[in-house]
Amino acid sequence: MALIEQQLAQVRARITQAEQRFSRPAGSVTLIAATKTCSVDAIRTAAASGLRSFGENYLQEALPKIRELESEHYEWHFIGPIQSNKTRDIATHFDWVHSVDRLKIAQRLSDQRPPELGDLNICLQVNISDEDSKSGVMPEDLPKLAQEIAEIPRLSLRGLMTVPAITSDFEEQRQPFRALYQLWIELRQMGLALDILSIGMSDDLEAAIAEGATLVRIGTAIFGSRPQKPLKPQQPF
Ligand SMILES: *Cc1c(COP(=O)(O)O)cnc(C)c1O
Repeated sequence: MALIEQQLAQVRARITQAEQRFSRPAGSVTLIAATKTCSVDAIRTAAASGLRSFGENYLQEALPKIRELESEHYEWHFIGPIQSNKTRDIATHFDWVHSVDRLKIAQRLSDQRPPELGDLNICLQVNISDEDSKSGVMPEDLPKLAQEIAEIPRLSLRGLMTVPAITSDFEEQRQPFRALYQLWIELRQMGLALDILSIGMSDDLEAAIAEGATLVRIGTAIFGSRPQKPLKPQQPF
């Protein structure tokens, strides 16, 4: 068995065990593979083991891969920071966007979504624990943003996403996810039909599933660790 296949099987087993341990219905957590820096071959290998949904962070990296894999009809999720001059390509080439945090971006995605592709699925990224991060709407601004985006045509507001500050402590991992779950419940009580809680990565997927994840985005645990960015060449003395 190829390494990716083995590691994917391990990730699936972790998800199943966490569903059982935290009394979540079997099959209630969807797995998408985060494929930034992964080759097209690695994506094909994961697809051969049954994965059909892939998440990409960088448009420049993603577009050639999506084109090369076009005939496979995979589901593509955009999970990285969004610059407003990139919305047309995102609206055209992706099925999901997990990282919407501004009205202006949502409006552009709507305007630029080709109608024949159907609604673009949207999750709002919330800045729940990492105040230094520039990504994500602040919790106090979320209800208004969610209500505004829910009204926009050609977008289907599906849920919330967060990338919390990193910690290896299980209880500390659970806290931001629990806070996001509370916000998700509040939006549902306001009448928004949200069904997706996009939380959980390789090192915290159990904590996310404990706190209600319906979708986990896993990279390293399937594909191995990513290459570090090359260091700047040393200046000569
Ligand atoms: C890279 C990335 C992931 C996957 O992270 P791993 O720790 O490699 O599993 C998930 N979500 C986002 C937004 C990412 O950028």
